[in-house]
Amino acid sequence: MEQICQSCSMPMSLEVFGTEQTGEKTNEYCKYCYENGTFTQPDTTMEEMIEICVPHMTGEGMPEQQARSILKEVLPALSRWKGDPLFVKLPTQVFNGDIE
Ligand SMILES: [Zn+2]
Repeated sequence: MEQICQSCSMPMSLEVFGTEQTGEKTNEYCKYCYENGTFTQPDTTMEEMIEICVPHMTGEGMPEQQARSILKEVLPALSRWKGDPLFVKLPTQVFNGDIE
């Protein structure tokens, strides 16, 4: 299966893997989303991410409507946005305890 970024769903090859704080590459996120162990744009919401991704997909000849519906389906399943029903950015660490 193709490795995709768990933030923007971009298909990744080794050259675009993001980096951890240690400088090691991670196959979880791409370098555009994740660098030195942190998200490059930590305040981006999932909806904003869709807006960022759509032009890249239409640029490859995909109709905008189709790109949008694919992203709306794919992004919520990715690690960065999982457990995020309001489509609001929340760091994953928030979910390590009880939510009252
Ligand atoms: Zn990415």
